[in-house]
Amino acid sequence: MRLPARIRVLERGWLSANNVLLVEGAAATLVDSGYVGHVEQTLALVEHALEGRQLTRLVNTHCHSDHMGGNARIAARHGCPITIPEGEAGSIDRWDERELILGYADQRADRFRYDDLIAPGETIEMGGLEWDVHAAPGHDAGAVVFFSPDEGVLISGDALWQNGFGVVFGALLGNDAACVEARDTLDRIAALDARVVIPGHGAVFADVDDAIERARNRLAHYESSLDKLARHCVKALFTYALLDRRAMPLDAIEDYLGRVPVYVDLNRDFIGLERAAFARWLVADLERAGVVGREGGNLIPRIKA
Ligand SMILES: [Zn+2]
Repeated sequence: MRLPARIRVLERGWLSANNVLLVEGAAATLVDSGYVGHVEQTLALVEHALEGRQLTRLVNTHCHSDHMGGNARIAARHGCPITIPEGEAGSIDRWDERELILGYADQRADRFRYDDLIAPGETIEMGGLEWDVHAAPGHDAGAVVFFSPDEGVLISGDALWQNGFGVVFGALLGNDAACVEARDTLDRIAALDARVVIPGHGAVFADVDDAIERARNRLAHYESSLDKLARHCVKALFTYALLDRRAMPLDAIEDYLGRVPVYVDLNRDFIGLERAAFARWLVADLERAGVVGREGGNLIPRIKA
């Protein structure tokens, strides 16, 4: 994919979002810092990509664990300020483990302090380019995307991937407008007419119109049934937790689902299965999809972390 040399994408797996390093001269800005469990790997990758430059700023597209989990350690190592979207400031100030989908979903992140905020409508200079900051609510209410009109490059976070987008959590957690917001975000992205998208997960892609079409169709599918969205959300969050833990005893899963609040809430509000049936459905569905497998009494992930 043709990207200017000043934009370097460190493509990661699922636990850690992609990191984007934007370099100019002896300085560099990093967008998103990965999952806390991967922070040593992230530090090494960033160190290598810096090629001796100084990291002068760390910026987040939004504040989920896979995008900001490494903030504290990276900022401490490089002595750089942290910039987050204005819409995330309240949750970060309170370190609200439900709003940030941390302990609420058995995810972790090191608490950090931010130094400044960016808001939609502003521009931010990264790698010697001016990036327009656009609101991207839906997957996350405070999320933003960064667009360089000069290069036609969009850093989309979890608002748009080549095949889909991050779970629209808000629609399941009390924001009735979240799906409409996600649709408006896709419209806003479409209007940018980006040449290339650097997504939060997966490879950089140029078939932007097709990706937006796929995303719109997927969103319509979930909007037609929040039960489907809830089931998708449960599978995504459980797979994430399994990748983090690397294995979970099969006989502990039912208890786990009864203990981690997000599963209790989603099952009660949208899915409505008795706890044992809920666990059986989840394991069977993920096994059928080839996402998980069994090994000596444990459930293990079959996909790369
Ligand atoms: Zn996210």
